[in-house]
Amino acid sequence: MNLDHAEPWVIVRLDDVQGQCHKQSRVCDVLEAHGVPIHLEVIPGDLDERGAAELHREHTRRSVPVMCHQHGYRHTNHGTDAKRCEFGDHRGFEVQLEDLSAGKNHLTNLLGEIFEPLFSPPWDRYGETTLEAIEAAGLQGMSVLWKDGAPSHPRIPIIRFTLDPVNWSRPPTHRSWSETLENLLRSIQDGNGAGLQLHHEVMEEHDFVGLNETLDELDKNGVCWPMMKDLVTKRRES
Ligand SMILES: [Zn+2]
Repeated sequence: MNLDHAEPWVIVRLDDVQGQCHKQSRVCDVLEAHGVPIHLEVIPGDLDERGAAELHREHTRRSVPVMCHQHGYRHTNHGTDAKRCEFGDHRGFEVQLEDLSAGKNHLTNLLGEIFEPLFSPPWDRYGETTLEAIEAAGLQGMSVLWKDGAPSHPRIPIIRFTLDPVNWSRPPTHRSWSETLENLLRSIQDGNGAGLQLHHEVMEEHDFVGLNETLDELDKNGVCWPMMKDLVTKRRES
């Protein structure tokens, strides 16, 4: 896939993956029907052999690529303020490196070739020392809901996700899918690409329809669907 020219792209990822479940499977059905690669952000601490076998099955049975990434370690809150976070400068480099390495080893052992060493921080929170620990752990890149002024790193490409379509006030609900589409198209216009992070566990019947219609519209707008790994590799080489 040539990503050099100004072809608009969208990457879709599913968060908080522990194996396979009914709702996750339905999201994957919608993505597969549109030829969209499936990026699963797996929580290492929640993945056992059974869950790993389910993910291997998904990889084998889908007509689109199904690849797994590392979503935190145990998805535990270590925050010291009102917002939740698992990683951040307040935990220090060494402890974060320990968590990142343990998570990466676990996923490598259970998932083998369907694991790509890309990281996504739970609750989209991280610090400069997190990026240093990511490099030291041998992870190749990160995807995160991007905020202007957030830390970056010369050797760890960051795939900037542009939108969380969920309103997390309790109970969590999806924003309207037309708002999500508008936001994605705006991000594409501003920067050529956009990332959509999905939480299958908060999706209801109308959200599967909404996701399907959103992907239809993006298709009509000539969007292409690269794999995250290809974008990271391209940026590491440039
Ligand atoms: Zn999460």
